[in-house]
Amino acid sequence: MIDNLVFIRNAFSRYYSENIDRVEIPKSIENREFGFTLFKEGVMVRHKGFMKPEDLKDFIKKNIPSNVFYSAAYYSVPEAKMDEKGWLGSDLFFDIDADHIPTKCNKKHDVWTCRGCGLKGRGMTPDKCPTCGGESFDDKTWPCEICLETARSETIKLIDMLMNDFGFSPEEIKCSFSGHRGYHVQIESEGILDLDSDIRKEIVDYITGTGIDALLHGLEEVRDGKTRFLVGPSLDDFGWRGRIAKGTYEFLLAATENDLRNLGLKRKIIEKILSSRDEILESWKTSGPWNLVEGLGLDGWQKILQHSATFQSAKIDTVVTVDIHRLIRLPGTLHGKTGLLKVSFPVSRIEDFDPLKEALALKGEEVKVYVDEAPAFRLGDEIFGPFEKQSVTLPLPAAVFLLCKNAAKVID
Ligand SMILES: [Zn+2]
Ligand SMILES: [Zn+2]
Repeated sequence: MIDNLVFIRNAFSRYYSENIDRVEIPKSIENREFGFTLFKEGVMVRHKGFMKPEDLKDFIKKNIPSNVFYSAAYYSVPEAKMDEKGWLGSDLFFDIDADHIPTKCNKKHDVWTCRGCGLKGRGMTPDKCPTCGGESFDDKTWPCEICLETARSETIKLIDMLMNDFGFSPEEIKCSFSGHRGYHVQIESEGILDLDSDIRKEIVDYITGTGIDALLHGLEEVRDGKTRFLVGPSLDDFGWRGRIAKGTYEFLLAATENDLRNLGLKRKIIEKILSSRDEILESWKTSGPWNLVEGLGLDGWQKILQHSATFQSAKIDTVVTVDIHRLIRLPGTLHGKTGLLKVSFPVSRIEDFDPLKEALALKGEEVKVYVDEAPAFRLGDEIFGPFEKQSVTLPLPAAVFLLCKNAAKVID
């Protein structure tokens, strides 16, 4: 029996010996901190610095790390202890990962085990174990198509805000597939380098729509003599005002009786909304639907708008953006949990980028493996599995993928 880690490391070694120039060298390499996990030790080695691209490439070829990270931050002395590095600034970084987005499919394919008491569960890994209160888990999560599509649509919303609300140009925005379950978006721009954590938190709140209030975004009651009527945001309004309008339009386009009941609206009003749906949608072309539904006043509309706003926010991992010392995966390197590449691509490609095709990087002969359990997964144009307790011969990337997931063993 060949040891899984030895086999994976050999595959990674071949990739790096043949493709070392695919490793993307970050801007100002001499000011970045690097971190690595190594196959043997399994621990993180950080506070590394490299003066030249060749030094980094040689290190990777020699040590064959399972994961390669670099700092979003720039330091005077990247190799020094944290508080002695001399922070010079940091890129603005966003992480969108299916781990933080509740998808319907994660109950099907994701499993976690508490390291404290051994309790197992399905779906999103909890913050605390419900039995022993432990906070450490082994999780097995899968980059499924639905999860990746969800992450993509969140990334599209984020990019839209970065370009249209914040005014960043496409050239300042760098997108990449993480190599596992999500996307990274990075802004390298003079203007954001010295933003502190508090300001980055404000940006996070804007993007996630935290604390948004429809009453501060155009919804209000207006008096004209004795008549009172409502006005609200319109579809072509700028920023969150337009987003709330779009969200409301889309919500009412598809809302079921149940959706409206969940907002606490009365039965008669729900019936009126549903029976005048076409009229409501049509009204957005003029002054909006605010006075169309008899009995639906400011309170009711506020509930609808607040709810609709949540679909317009982008579900970023808020901790990552605020952390100005964060280490992030280096593009052009392999992900130790999948054997897939972290690939960067221009912002214009976000709609049609196929992560499970473009992140394929390993080349070699087919491998016979024994698979314990794995859901169906796609790599390139091929679908593999589902597998359960069976031997199967797979192309190298699919085999390494299962080995990295600890779902299979190599058979001699
Ligand atoms: Zn536990
Ligand atoms: Zn999924």
